[in-house]
Formats: sequence, C-alpha cells, structure tokens
Amino acid sequence: VISIQGLYKSFGTLDVLKGIDLTVCEGENVAVLGKSGSGKSVLIKIIVGLLKPDKGTLNVLEKEVEELNGKELDELRLRIGFSFQGSALYDSMSVFENLAFPLTMNVKHLTKKEVESAVEEALEAVGLKDKAERMPAELSGGQRKRIGIARALILKPEIMLYDEPTAGLDPITSAEINELINEVQEKYNTSSIIITHDLTCAKNTCNRVVMLVEGKFLPSGKFEELFGTDNQQVKDFFNYNF
Ligand code: ATP
Ligand code: MG
Repeated sequence: VISIQGLYKSFGTLDVLKGIDLTVCEGENVAVLGKSGSGKSVLIKIIVGLLKPDKGTLNVLEKEVEELNGKELDELRLRIGFSFQGSALYDSMSVFENLAFPLTMNVKHLTKKEVESAVEEALEAVGLKDKAERMPAELSGGQRKRIGIARALILKPEIMLYDEPTAGLDPITSAEINELINEVQEKYNTSSIIITHDLTCAKNTCNRVVMLVEGKFLPSGKFEELFGTDNQQVKDFFNYNF
C-alpha cells in the first residue's frame, strides 16, 4: 500500500532524509524507530502529502503522489488516518465536535444521525463512548491519545500512521494503547506505520521494524532479528532504551 524509493528531503543545509526506501504491504504494520530529530515525523508528513520530498518516488494506495493535483491529493489523504504526535485535538471543541469535524468537512450530505452514529462507532472503537461531551482539557493524556486515534479512524482509513502513540504515557496506559492499535488493525483492516521510541510498542504492534539512522534506513527485520544484530548503531539504540 506504500512504496517509497530514493526519497530525499532537506531543509536548507539540513539534510534530513538521504535516500529512503520503504515498502509497506497490505495488512502489514511497520514500526519506525530512530532517535529524536532523525526525520521520522518528516517521513510520515511526506507520506500524507503535508511536505514535499526533494527527490524520489512515493506511491501510496496505488497512486504516484507527485503526479496528483490538489483535489486528487485531498482524496488520497482521506484514505489515510493520521494520529499526530501530541494528539492535536481542537481545544475549543468538545470530543464529539473534534470527531465530527473531519466528517462534516469532507463528506457532503451527511444527516445529523449519520454523523452521530459514525462518531459513536469511533468512540466505541477506542473505548470512550461516555466522553463525547467532554472538552479535551478534561481528558487524561491517554484518553486524548485515544480520541486522536478515534478522529483518525472516523473516515475509515485504509492506512493508519501513528506518530509516537505512547509517548509520555505510563507503562500500563501504553500497553492499553498498544492493544487498541492491534484492535484497530483487526477491526478496520488497516496497514500501518507506527513511529515510536517505545520498544514494547514496536514489539507488540508491528510485524517489522525499520530504524532511521543518519537519514537512511538500516536493514529492516523482525523485532527479534534486529535485537540480535551486530550492527553497532542498532545496539546503541537498544542499549539506550534498556
Ligand atoms: P522526534 O522523535 O523528536 O519527534 P523526529 O525524528 O520526528 O524527532 P522530525 O520532526 O522528523 O524528527 O525532524 C527532523 C529534522 O528536520 C529536525 O532537525 C527538525 O528540526 C527538522 N525539520 C522538521 N520539519 C521542519 C520544517 N518544516 N522546517 C525546517 N526544519 C524542519
Ligand atoms: Mg517526531
């Protein structure tokens, strides 16, 4: 569902991505590890078309992204759910309004009832049906993450991109979010990329792990393979984490 070849991205003199290749097959869940500032968020912003690469090809859901016009890019974006680093809810809107927003913005002619039932279904999927009328400030950090995921699910995406879904959460809440990600994968049949510093998250939600180091991916593999590697950069990352 995602195929990236030879992707480069710089900001001025800062070369962030230096030749990235990545393939995500249907139903696959790939974890992207890498230290802070290595370009993980930039990579998924490129995948959803929020940033343009300098060079390289990007095929998402069978579309060559660079060949799309604005309208086509918008259509493609609707098929991708993006759970932002830091959940990015609208503070002045209730949970219900936060979830209804992408629907009413993007799908024409929905009845009030259809919006309500879509919101209810998404809230149910993340286990927070009783929070529809709350404001984001009234939620815990873990609940905000769940609502962020619910909002990403509201248009029934084929691909989910999670940017650090468990950052800043205690181990128990993190485990619950990991479980939720697995449930979403099953229930919504999504393929996903999960950016994380959390090795438990990578291990429990993904079939494959890739690691971004100095603008390139190290050879990818199953979590256990990466764990047994001789590669010093991979070892350093894991040692740092434990
Ligand atoms: P973290 O784990 O801390 O979230 P990250 O791997 O997601 O880190 P990115 O957000 O992808 O890091 O940023 C990679 C580098 O690109 C950083 O040095 C950042 O300052 C730079 N960068 C990101 N977006 C922009 C932008 N729009 N303009 C200029 N520089 C940017
Ligand atoms: Mg980031």
